[in-house]
Amino acid sequence: MEILDGKLVSQSVKDSLKTKVSQLLEKGGKRPHLAAILVGNNGASETYVASKVKSCEEVGFTSTLMRLEENIPENELLDCIKKFNDDPDIDGILVQLPLPKHISEQQVIETVSPSKDVDGFHPVNVGKLMIGEADYLPCTPAGIQQLLIRSGVKIDGAEVVVVGRSNIVGKPIANILLQKQKGANATVTICHTGSKDMAFHTKRADILIVAAGKPKAITADMVKEGAVVIDVGVNRIGMTPEGKAKLCGDVDFEGVKEKAGAITPVPGGVGPMTITMLMMNTVKAAKLAASVE
Ligand code: NAP
Repeated sequence: MEILDGKLVSQSVKDSLKTKVSQLLEKGGKRPHLAAILVGNNGASETYVASKVKSCEEVGFTSTLMRLEENIPENELLDCIKKFNDDPDIDGILVQLPLPKHISEQQVIETVSPSKDVDGFHPVNVGKLMIGEADYLPCTPAGIQQLLIRSGVKIDGAEVVVVGRSNIVGKPIANILLQKQKGANATVTICHTGSKDMAFHTKRADILIVAAGKPKAITADMVKEGAVVIDVGVNRIGMTPEGKAKLCGDVDFEGVKEKAGAITPVPGGVGPMTITMLMMNTVKAAKLAASVE
């Protein structure tokens, strides 16, 4: 059984991004600039945004972190996004989700200019993904695809089963892997809470991708011998003695690793790839803005 090490793979992608930044500068472009907006003091969101800003520094980007009060009126948040949209120095904008209840996430997503939407959530970018013409793939699904490709997993012709149909993971990864393109061209099934016999489907999977948000939802008896198992889940299940959140995935790692051909750990699997794909999209945005290939 092989551990698919997202940290290792993402480091090699980051190294190639550093080179791309240097090339961009040599061709008269500027450093890619990512602007992040964090509303309120959600602990997990703070951690995610801090990792994103740190990754910007690692690969030589400029970053701006805008912190806004939990009770900020929606129109003020939208105005802040519009300012970033109009700022030619900013290439990519991310608004950390979830947002406080009084703010419409969809309204926020649709206010970010599609050309700066490095999260790939704007309906324009979702539509482009559907027709195989994506500028920006959403980061977690893009990270899963890159992890599979860079780990040498054969996707073309594989039976892929996705557990979960959210707009940020399940639906887009299914769409990405079914495109008639390199690094895709799979036969894809999506399971959800309405699926009658989930194990029937998961046991057929050559590649099983689990994004259910339910700790240990997938057990060894639901997995085919030798399958590649991608665990997207990040569930907080108490505290470590050091006071850090204890994390577990959606897959029963200890049981499933005995049966799988390859498996991602949690943490250290999909998570690091997600952040690196955000960097990749921001480089792309900077290149598109500078009309540099
Ligand atoms: P979500 O919006 O809550 O969606 C969960 C999906 O799983 C839903 O479609 C739901 O079905 C389905 N589901 C839940 N329990 C199920 C079960 N027992 N059997 C079959 N389907 C089930 O979650 P999400 O945003 O996609 O995130 C999923 C997990 O990935 C979470 O743990 C999240 O923290 C993690 N995540 C990790 C990263 C990363 O970078 N590592 C990024 C994003 C998310 P219905 O549609 O029928 O309700």
